[in-house]
Amino acid sequence: MADEIQMRRRVILGTGGTIAGRASRAGDNVGYVAGQVGVADLLAGVPPLAGLALEVEQVAQIDSKDMGFAVWQLLAGRVAHHLARDEVAGVVITHGTDTLEETAFFLQQVLQPAKPVVLTCAMRPATALVPDGPQNLLDAVTVAGDAAAHGVVAVCAGQIHAAQHVTKVHSYRTDAFDSGDAGPIGCVEEGVLRLFHPWPAQRSAGSFDTAGLARIQGVKALPRVEWLNSHADADGTLVRALLALAAQEPERMPRGMVVAGTGNGTLHWSLMEALSEAQAAGVRVVRATRCARGRVVPAGQNRFPEVSDLSPAKARLALALALLEV
Ligand code: ASP
Repeated sequence: MADEIQMRRRVILGTGGTIAGRASRAGDNVGYVAGQVGVADLLAGVPPLAGLALEVEQVAQIDSKDMGFAVWQLLAGRVAHHLARDEVAGVVITHGTDTLEETAFFLQQVLQPAKPVVLTCAMRPATALVPDGPQNLLDAVTVAGDAAAHGVVAVCAGQIHAAQHVTKVHSYRTDAFDSGDAGPIGCVEEGVLRLFHPWPAQRSAGSFDTAGLARIQGVKALPRVEWLNSHADADGTLVRALLALAAQEPERMPRGMVVAGTGNGTLHWSLMEALSEAQAAGVRVVRATRCARGRVVPAGQNRFPEVSDLSPAKARLALALALLEV
C-alpha cells in the first residue's frame, strides 16, 4: 500500500518565488533574488523524492509580487492539462509566498479540481543556511499523493490550508501562513497527514471545471477591480481620481471596487460619498474588512454589500471573476 502511494504520479509546476531564490551569501534570508533556481533542481535537492513518479515543468520563473492574470491563465491551463491525465494523482505548484493565497483562490474558483492541487513555497531562499523549501516541497508532494485529497490547498510549515482561507500573516517567519478562524485543514507529520477538517467541497464532475477554465481562456484580462481602504481621514480622493482618469481613458474605468472597511466593514462617511458616486457611475462596490481576522457580519441593509468570509485580496478576485459573466 505504501509503495502504491509512492508510485502515484504527481506533476510539479514551477513558478518561481523565494523557494527558488538565490542569495550571494548563505546566511542571507532577505537579500536574495526570487525565482532563480529551476524546479527540476529544487526537486533534486530533496533526497526523499528520488525514485517517486514525479514530472516537472517550469511554467514561470518570477517573484510572485509580480503575479498577474497572464501567468494565472497559463498556469490554470497547465494544471488542467495534467489533471485531465488519468495517470496523474495530483499537481504541486512551487510559488512565491507574497501572492500565493491569490493564486490558490483563483485556481480553486476557476478549476474546482477533483484532484489535489497543492501550492507550496518558502520564506527562505534555496541558498539559505537552513532553507525551509525542501521540507515544504516534500510535504506538498505527500499531500498531492493522498487518494482522498482534492481541491486547491497550500502547504507550508507542516500545515495544510484551504485556498478559501489561507493568508500570509507574517513577513519573515517560516510559518508565515494562517487560515484565520477556520484553522488549517490539517497537517503533515513525518510524511503522514492528520486532518482537522474535510477537504474543500468538490463541485466539478470531471477532474476539473472545464467551463470555468473556458471562461478565463477567452479573455485578455480580468475586469478591472480596484482595492481601497477606509482609514482615518479617508476622503475619497483616490476614488474620484479613478473616475476622473476613466473620463479621459474609458478603458481604465473600474468595473468594481473592493473597499476594506474598518472593523465590521464600516467606512469613513467621506469615502462613502465618493463610493456612492462610483456606484452611480456603474461601478460594483463591495465591502470587506481590513481586520486580519473575522468577516463582515451582515448588519441590515447597506448600500454596499459585504463579501462573505473573504480577505480583500480574494474579494477582488471573486468580484472580477463574477464580472466576467456580466
Ligand atoms: N517575494 C517573494 C515571492 O513572493 C517572497 C517569497 O516567496 O517568500 O515570490
